[in-house]
Amino acid sequence: MLADRVRRVKPSPTLAMDAKAKEMKARGEDVVNFGVGEPDFDTPENIKEAAVKALRDGFTKYTPVGGILPLKDAIIEKFRADNGLEYSREEIIVSCGAKHSLYNIAQALFGPGDEVIIPSPYWVSYPAQVLLNDATPVFVKTFEDDSFMLRPEALEGAITDKTKALILNSPSNPTGLTYERKAIEAIAEVALRHGIYVISDEIYEKLLYDDAEHVSIASLGKEMKDKTVVVNGLSKSHAMTGWRIGYVGGPADVVKAMTKVQSQSTSNPTSIAQAAAVEALTGPQDFLQTMLTEFDKRRKYLVGELNSMPSLSCVMPNGAFYAFPNTSGVYGGKVRSSSELALYLLDEAKVALVPGDAFGDDDFIRISYATSIEDIKKAVERINQALGKIS
Ligand SMILES: *Cc1c(COP(=O)(O)O)cnc(C)c1O
Repeated sequence: MLADRVRRVKPSPTLAMDAKAKEMKARGEDVVNFGVGEPDFDTPENIKEAAVKALRDGFTKYTPVGGILPLKDAIIEKFRADNGLEYSREEIIVSCGAKHSLYNIAQALFGPGDEVIIPSPYWVSYPAQVLLNDATPVFVKTFEDDSFMLRPEALEGAITDKTKALILNSPSNPTGLTYERKAIEAIAEVALRHGIYVISDEIYEKLLYDDAEHVSIASLGKEMKDKTVVVNGLSKSHAMTGWRIGYVGGPADVVKAMTKVQSQSTSNPTSIAQAAAVEALTGPQDFLQTMLTEFDKRRKYLVGELNSMPSLSCVMPNGAFYAFPNTSGVYGGKVRSSSELALYLLDEAKVALVPGDAFGDDDFIRISYATSIEDIKKAVERINQALGKIS
């Protein structure tokens, strides 16, 4: 018999949808994959070269568990330059992707009886990781007409004497929205007053549009920094999803506990991926602007088209590479939920996307625009036609 914890969670629905779309494509079907959670750009050449060089130089052995010193130092410099945060090497740990960083945090901090507050809609792995560590996720609903912001009153209302932490994600997957400084400050005030940790997932920090600004909650003062575990990584900013490099800056005792957990599970992240990560953080950064310019074009086009469809509405996202349209106007006849809609669109329009219920809100679907503008145009046309048939 399998362990009880396995029954509490499902496989990642976003990865499942992505796999299904790739499978249909492999069978020769003309599927547009709107389900992907990764940039469609290739990893920049200079980063690949650094990995090749590391391989040739025989940098192929175990490294220190929490990451090689040049990488820790590059991360320290990144936090200083981008976020105004000062960390020492004892406050940094590199893991096998930001998802692994988050899992290590859950192992280090959560246990039976602990409650962890998760604003919904949320990234799929937050509740699963809380459950896998015997703690209880507590969801706080956020609303489309409030740009999906967690408000301080709502946070306060969810806090009990069992609350251990809040998981914050800005810019957000799935909504594509970014918290403003004032909203972050209000959350910090409540978190500090109640002495709870904030786990701040900042993986989309660099993917901002219009005049959006990224504010790390840890940067709001020493007190808040001491209670914040900042999660970041290279998957989204440097198109390095397959390399598996994520990292954390946080209180030394939490990082030490995470390092202990990692030393007994994966050991170090891959040696040559770490060498590539040093280049990613310290080498030229012009790749980012190229990617952003393209994402921005697609974002405006896609959201404009979605809002022109009579049964849909979509808040203009200002971060990440997702649009999160409200699809509840479509529900009624043939299609009554986000999963039914996703299945219908896959069958009828050959467009793969992820239903909102995977993110805790059935009134929406998530569309990733990390795919070519030609594909977006094709998919938008097909979605429009398919929706026309059921409304
Ligand atoms: C992609 C993603 C991650 C994890 O990325 P890794 O590839 O594991 O580094 C973490 N959080 C959010 C919100 C993401 O979308």
